Amino acid sequence: MRQGMVIAGAGMGGLSASIAMGLEGHSSTVLERRDVFAELGAGIQLGPNSTRILHQWGLSEALKTYAAWPEQIEVFRFDQTSSLAKLDLGVNFKDRYGAPYVTIHRADFQALLYKRMLAIGQTDLRMGSSLVDLKNQNDGVDIEIRTRALSPAQSPLGSDTTQRAKTDLDALPMMQLHASALIGADGVSSEVRRLEWPHRRIHATPHLAYRATVPQKLLPLKLRQSGVRVFLGPQMHCVQYPIRCGEWLNIVALMEAPFDAEHAMNEVQAPLQQAWTEKVSLDVMREHFRLALKGASSDLQELFKAVGEWSAWRLFDANPLTGAHQMVQGRVALLGDAAHPMLPFLAQGAGMSIEDADRLAKAWSHQDLSPGQRLQTYGNARWLRNARVQKRARTNASIFHASGVMAGIRDLGLAVLGERLLDMPWLYGHR
Ligand SMILES: Cc1cc2nc3c(=O)[nH]c(=O)nc-3n(C[C@H](O)[C@H](O)[C@H](O)COP(=O)(O)OP(=O)(O)OC[C@H]3O[C@@H](n4cnc5c(N)ncnc54)[C@H](O)[C@@H]3O)c2cc1C
Repeated sequence: MRQGMVIAGAGMGGLSASIAMGLEGHSSTVLERRDVFAELGAGIQLGPNSTRILHQWGLSEALKTYAAWPEQIEVFRFDQTSSLAKLDLGVNFKDRYGAPYVTIHRADFQALLYKRMLAIGQTDLRMGSSLVDLKNQNDGVDIEIRTRALSPAQSPLGSDTTQRAKTDLDALPMMQLHASALIGADGVSSEVRRLEWPHRRIHATPHLAYRATVPQKLLPLKLRQSGVRVFLGPQMHCVQYPIRCGEWLNIVALMEAPFDAEHAMNEVQAPLQQAWTEKVSLDVMREHFRLALKGASSDLQELFKAVGEWSAWRLFDANPLTGAHQMVQGRVALLGDAAHPMLPFLAQGAGMSIEDADRLAKAWSHQDLSPGQRLQTYGNARWLRNARVQKRARTNASIFHASGVMAGIRDLGLAVLGERLLDMPWLYGHR
């Protein structure tokens, strides 16, 4: 069957790409291996570099309905209750970058992207369809998929992760497609990357991310938040921010396994093919929290006790991109985490997939160029920016989790330079 552009993966990157393409008047087919979307129990921060693009895509009103608008970012030592540094996210910040800083529940964000994609009407979304093989040819890409062939009328919005694909892929009917181009937006464990860039490696890190959301009204007043708060401790940090118009609080704690790392990792095995919401064994989690929060302020300790359920995610990383050739080869290109896995220490992974999507659609509109040249234009425009963000995320990991003298130097820098360290025009002002 002949197709135009095929996008593998309907995560934030794939949905963004289909919206951006649709708005430029290009149709696309999106393959998603899950039967339903399964973004659960966590929030996401979106800087003005992302929200500026979302506004151009007509999502301003939807963001107003679902998101929260934090007033400031405050950074604390984990054992103190007065902040080291603040960045005001109010009117001046918004005017400076032409767009706001928002925080939103992942499920809400995925739903609003999905609805926008439907409203534009240029996408053929095929849930329950996994890309399993590809051949990058001169005239396009031969793609093999295994598909459950769900009814197109069936809505993929829902929160029942038990419905997600569990069947052995080989048992599903096979289908062949021929695409003019293939975009691998299939996440950190990308099959497209594995098949087309077999030498690119991702690696497990000692970092675990524990995540939770809680209705603010269930928390004591002093623990409720209207801004983004970052608490820095040795080998750990914790970020808290409002979601769902401020009614809920999102908490993410990134901790390096301080004890038998391999044991901890096995306990939270998040095999690459699984959803990222893994239930962690309660004993391992309690032990990890006890060690990581030793010396933390009583407020921080109290918040951890107030939260009932956490999910855990083992973090993966990859070396920063070294050139456009790692994002584009012939008629195949990568986008989002598939192209540039990164640690979440800059809160920009989804942001980069939105920027990628915007660029891809603009490059695809160069009708004077061949499909391969259009993809190359996209890769040339994106690889260096993505590499810079990947590098900065790694640097932040060592700064955020510093201990001893290094932590002292960091704290002094934050206290003296304050806003000048937290504001990042190179990141937020990118166009
Ligand atoms: C703890 C944590 C906190 C974060 N916080 C932030 C933040 O605040 N701000 C931010 O911008 N980013 C943040 N990120 C990063 C962000 O979550 C990711 O960068 C983003 O989700 C990547 O989107 P994606 O579409 O590229 O990949 P994914 O969201 O992984 O989507 C990939 C999709 O492809 C599908 N798929 C996989 N294989 C196949 C196949 N073979 N065929 C068909 N479909 C397939 C999957 O089912 C999935 O739906 C954070 C990440 C973590 C771990």
